Amino acid sequence: MADYDYDVLVIGAGPGGYVAAIRAAQLGLKTACAEGRETLGGTCLNVGCIPSKAMLHASEYYDAAANGAMAKMGIDVTPKLNLPAMHGQRVDAVKGLTGGIEFLFKKNKVDWLKGYAQFTGKDSVEVAGKTYRAKNIVIATGSSVTPLPGVEVDNDKQVIVDSTGALELAKVPEHMVVIGGGVIGLELGSVWRRLGAKVTCVEFLDQILPGMDADVRKDANRIFKKQGIEFKLKTKVTKAEVKGKKAVLTLEPAAGGDAETLEADVVLVSIGRRPNTDGLGLDKAGLAVNARGQIETDHDFGTQVPGIWAIGDVIPGPMLAHKAEDEGIAVAENIAGLTGIVNHDVIPSVVYTMPEIAGVGLTEEQAKERGEVKVGKFPMAGNSRAKTNHEPDGFVKVIADANSDRVLGVWIIASVAGTMIAQAAQAMEFGATSEDIAYTCHAHPTHSEAVKEAAMAVTGKPIHI
Ligand code: FAD
Ligand code: NAD
Repeated sequence: MADYDYDVLVIGAGPGGYVAAIRAAQLGLKTACAEGRETLGGTCLNVGCIPSKAMLHASEYYDAAANGAMAKMGIDVTPKLNLPAMHGQRVDAVKGLTGGIEFLFKKNKVDWLKGYAQFTGKDSVEVAGKTYRAKNIVIATGSSVTPLPGVEVDNDKQVIVDSTGALELAKVPEHMVVIGGGVIGLELGSVWRRLGAKVTCVEFLDQILPGMDADVRKDANRIFKKQGIEFKLKTKVTKAEVKGKKAVLTLEPAAGGDAETLEADVVLVSIGRRPNTDGLGLDKAGLAVNARGQIETDHDFGTQVPGIWAIGDVIPGPMLAHKAEDEGIAVAENIAGLTGIVNHDVIPSVVYTMPEIAGVGLTEEQAKERGEVKVGKFPMAGNSRAKTNHEPDGFVKVIADANSDRVLGVWIIASVAGTMIAQAAQAMEFGATSEDIAYTCHAHPTHSEAVKEAAMAVTGKPIHI
């Protein structure tokens, strides 16, 4: 240790990096974490998961009051939007949670090196003009918005924005065009639709939510349409010009054809995210990125250079906070000589709209490519709690291996799908069969009983349909 400053130096304090740093320190390793932002917590806490959920939660209440959902329960209210206060509670949530990470760093004796880190060699980085040597360096630099050629984002002007700008709009747009029918487009499009905007979603593919189960994509599209979002599928945006306080977009059919124009007060560019490696000096460490700009690792999160590790959005796999966190724990344990493992086959994903959309494991299409499957489906309209709560939309779908009955995937659309998916992930982690879920006692009346009924439907025996 004599000539090393640290056992572990983590670059980036997002959910991957800050968790890796805390676990490394808990394991007795001398640890530092470099972060260039003014606050810890990365994309997730500062401009991602947390502020988006703060706006989703608040706008859901507003919508319930405005769209008659509360009146259905005997509560007559006429909501009045106080947008600055809504933003205020978002900012408070971010401040509280990012400050919480700073507290955890102090508690666990993790040094925060303030500034952007750059490799100066295989075991050294420079941060704010000072060089540090570390036995192990973990790259957890995360990702940022993928730019769309011809559509220039300027968050300050609040006309063409990315997700960060869309969280902070000072007024509700009359017409918002969302480019990309993925997770960000649907979550933030939903926020502004609920608060009164007309929302048009332009999606390049023939359906929204790529990567999800086909039934889920189709039903989600139907539900969002019913809520008032207009979709232009198989369409691409080729240009956006700002004219005064509005943007004029040029749209073309994805397969080619006549262009049309569309005017919007706000345009949200949400066509994906790309790994952050620019300015990191990877070449000085002897590292290169793959064709998608990601840093490749082995099963232990080691890169091709011994002593340099990588986790989170900067490596292949879904760009999700909980995946980054689990990799953070695993990499620290591997560095400490323990066995840190992440089962990448069981990473749940959730879209936090109303209803929520969640999935884990294989889609029905993927499962069928691998062999014979049995599928059980149960509608939320048959679930007593969902019905009582006036939440009839959605379903649970359990996909099991036709021979072994082992659960291969679970997909859910339900008001609390994000909470319900946890039991499916846990069951799959334990190698459960659909019968194991079907014969597990579920509390009544809960939305989760629909998971049990869908599992019962795998062998054709649900009770409530
Ligand atoms: P990041 O969180 O991106 O953190 C990387 C950090 O590294 C950043 O703070 C950056 O400043 C810092 N950094 C970069 N380069 C350097 C350098 N050279 N030196 C020092 N520091 C550096 N995921 C979910 O699971 N659930 C959600 O609900 C969800 N909602 C989202 C909503 C939005 C609007 C967005 C944009 C993303 C959302 N995500 C969500 C995705 C989630 O935020 C990411 O998957 C997660 O933050 C990745 O964690 P990470 O640690 O790999 O990187
Ligand atoms: P995404 O990959 O989820 O969706 C992007 C969409 O844009 C796709 O449907 C794609 O077909 C479409 N697209 C691409 N180019 C296009 C073009 N030129 N014109 C029209 N459509 C185009 O990406 P995102 O929504 O930007 O989210 C980025 C990442 O952030 C995701 O990987 C996601 O995992 C993560 N995220 C997660 C959550 C969550 O877990 N709830 C929330 C927000 C973001």
